[in-house]
Amino acid sequence: MMRVAVGGIDHETSTFTPVPTTLDDFRRRFLLEGAAVVDTFQGTNTEIGGFVAALERQQAEVVPTMFAEAHPGAPVARRVFEELLNALIKKIDDAAPLDGVLLDLHGAMVAEGEQDPESTILRSVREVVGENVPIIVQLDIHANVSRAMVDEADALIARETYPEIDMAERGEECADLLLRTLRGEVRPTGAVCQMPFIWGTNQVTAEAPMRDAIDALHALEALPGVLTASICTGYPFADVPDMGSSVIVVTNDDQGRAQALADELGGWLDDRREDWFGPMPATADLIPTVAGDGRHPVIFADREDNTGAGTPGDSTGMLRAFLAADLVDACVLYIVDPASIRTCEGAGVGATVELAIGGKSDPDQGAPVCARAEVLALSDGGFLYSGPMYHGLSGSMGPSAHVKVKGVHILLVTEREQPFDPSFARSLQLDVDRMRFVGVKSQAHFRAGLGAFASAIHVVRESSVHNPPSGPLVYRNLGRPLFPIISGPEGRSMTHVSARDRSSQELHDLQGIEGE
Ligand SMILES: [Zn+2]
Repeated sequence: MMRVAVGGIDHETSTFTPVPTTLDDFRRRFLLEGAAVVDTFQGTNTEIGGFVAALERQQAEVVPTMFAEAHPGAPVARRVFEELLNALIKKIDDAAPLDGVLLDLHGAMVAEGEQDPESTILRSVREVVGENVPIIVQLDIHANVSRAMVDEADALIARETYPEIDMAERGEECADLLLRTLRGEVRPTGAVCQMPFIWGTNQVTAEAPMRDAIDALHALEALPGVLTASICTGYPFADVPDMGSSVIVVTNDDQGRAQALADELGGWLDDRREDWFGPMPATADLIPTVAGDGRHPVIFADREDNTGAGTPGDSTGMLRAFLAADLVDACVLYIVDPASIRTCEGAGVGATVELAIGGKSDPDQGAPVCARAEVLALSDGGFLYSGPMYHGLSGSMGPSAHVKVKGVHILLVTEREQPFDPSFARSLQLDVDRMRFVGVKSQAHFRAGLGAFASAIHVVRESSVHNPPSGPLVYRNLGRPLFPIISGPEGRSMTHVSARDRSSQELHDLQGIEGE
């Protein structure tokens, strides 16, 4: 019986956010050892759920090791990274002899003193298991892929949906490829093309133009000798040498062909670099247009305070715009604000309280919105994911409150998590599908569970630590030129896009970037 180790360390790191990433943040999300790794994820739409399903179906022995994941935030503290890595390595070492290793790594982690921690993880695992034990890794579509990662692993397979709903499916693909390798049927050989651009907001894989990119990817995967291929749109809020988009191709024992095919698709995507950027108006500029057309619900997606990309989740720009426009049957999902929740808990359901909502983490997140609010519901934050993302997994937003200011419902939460589906809101007696205007702090993941009932979706842009009102983010450590980031006196920054035949407003809109 083949013995396959299963585990991982998963973090998407912003080098621009003040939200720290501590060991407690991993404990609050996932810090699992031994059997708990399988027990937690078996039967769920997760990476490890997929690994386990395919291994068991093919009568391989699942050897659970360690799995750690924290919500996106600032670079992982050095000591924490070492502790997690040592725990994973010890578990893999203790599990010897192993036939193969399946890992779940996000691919866009940064730790203090480690600009490419995934390659460090892979090198450490390789040292323990040796050259002859294949290591196959599932990555997030937003991975910043380095050559070292490709060299250390036998194969990297990234998710190919955004919103990301193919975790289990890709997990099964990883396990299937590992078992084919162990049976001697194939010899995975990978190459990466690091592309010279970052991806904008047009990366929803079910819609044009991103659907064309995925079609091109599938056409490449159908070629003889190609085992798997991935497009990583990258995670742009990390000022590290390997930040950027990439194509990975894995062939059956043909390095030259893997590289040529990766370069070919990379070139095709780069020829269309401007297609990956969509418009991002301010909420206030958009409201008059969409409020007048009578189609509801309309979703406004504030992609600049997307907690899924590591921001604090308490920016107030969208809420302020909703209130200024006197919207009714409107809601904002969610605003991270434990202090206001405590005020609500003290007053109780049905009370009216004076709140300073949000805007507490960083001046770039905007000032708090001071308002009289009605407390409509309170909860400990526990819920079950009901949409395609994480279906079946239990989640918690921590102590939470549903308050209403004039016509706007606001869900105040403690944990930084995006609205993936309506079930958490429903647990606080808010039926999102009955709202006329829905504001979310998310760029795309909300589409998985909320998109079906929206009559229109608009990505909007408000101030945040990822979109500072004082000026664009400045990068100093990039390893290659990346459209539309250009060099300036202070370093490279997002300003002054030089695209052909664009109006100045379009150029401004082009500057948006995305990652989750
Ligand atoms: Zn992602």
